[in-house]
Amino acid sequence: MNIFNRIVGMLVLATVSIGAWAEFPDKPVTLIVPFAAGGPSDKIARDLAEALRKPLGQTVIVDNAGGAGGTIGATKVAKASPDGYTLLVHHIGMSTAPALYRKLGFKVLEDFEFLGLINEAPSVLIGKPGLAANNFADLRTWIAANSGKVNLANAGLGSASHLCGLMFQNALKINMTTVPYKGTAPAMTDLIGGQVDLMCEQATNAVPQIEGKKVKVYGVTSLQRLPIPALKDAPTLSEAGLKDFNVQVWHGLYAPRGTPPAVLARLNAALRLALKDPELVKRQEALGLSVISDGRLDPAGHKKFVEAEMARWSKVIKDAGEYAD
Ligand code: ASP
Repeated sequence: MNIFNRIVGMLVLATVSIGAWAEFPDKPVTLIVPFAAGGPSDKIARDLAEALRKPLGQTVIVDNAGGAGGTIGATKVAKASPDGYTLLVHHIGMSTAPALYRKLGFKVLEDFEFLGLINEAPSVLIGKPGLAANNFADLRTWIAANSGKVNLANAGLGSASHLCGLMFQNALKINMTTVPYKGTAPAMTDLIGGQVDLMCEQATNAVPQIEGKKVKVYGVTSLQRLPIPALKDAPTLSEAGLKDFNVQVWHGLYAPRGTPPAVLARLNAALRLALKDPELVKRQEALGLSVISDGRLDPAGHKKFVEAEMARWSKVIKDAGEYAD
């Protein structure tokens, strides 16, 4: 084949592959959420789905695949067809799963395309309504007096609530019984019903329950207090005595490895527009979340951030001796 034929051949191939993806998306896009419906990750994904509709020009569906701290849903997306129609909205658990699970159905840095970080979400430590402690100092006394009986709900190994609970037990040097759920939505129902005692939950879901006086709040898990009316009297756990206590949950958007670059570029552009949607920003900020607008919205910045989080959490998890087979 002479050079002219080769160039023509390459041009034809390039035109065909651009053409094949120029129409993307021409059918609904699905966001897999690896936790139960009604929880914080689900709410964030539903907000995002709504905001993505316009820039993508398609319906965006949310599909919940909860269980095993988010690893079931993440595995589903890692194995999905890499065509841009099945995406994953996952939180900090993406960076903790490799250290926690000896058998994991995916490799975080190899099996996904990183599409951009969505938001950062503070958490709060909350308790069942009848708990005999009205502030953090009371709570410490109550936990010490009930040693061996206190239980802590979470959304499974590697979930944000699990990590926060792990750090809480480490900071107090007291072991509690952890009770895993498929997401913090069902865990919240049991907390309100008094079947479990305590839970770390993202402000996204905790604030409405605190406002409704359905749960008690003992502190926020970030280093700064939160400028939300419902949390104006809530101290940071760090200022309440657990020095440097800091758990900040974040969410990101992922596609299966091998998704065509043109589709990834289209999805990243749509994500950027969605995160500027004034309705989405207003709703998220009212719950104390910050929508990402920095370099972590770039696929490379997102991946670099997740790598750093993986290093940070693998140390915490190894020190705590936690893992699942
Ligand atoms: N917030 C949960 C967690 O603790 C997950 C969820 O149900 O959204 O990880």
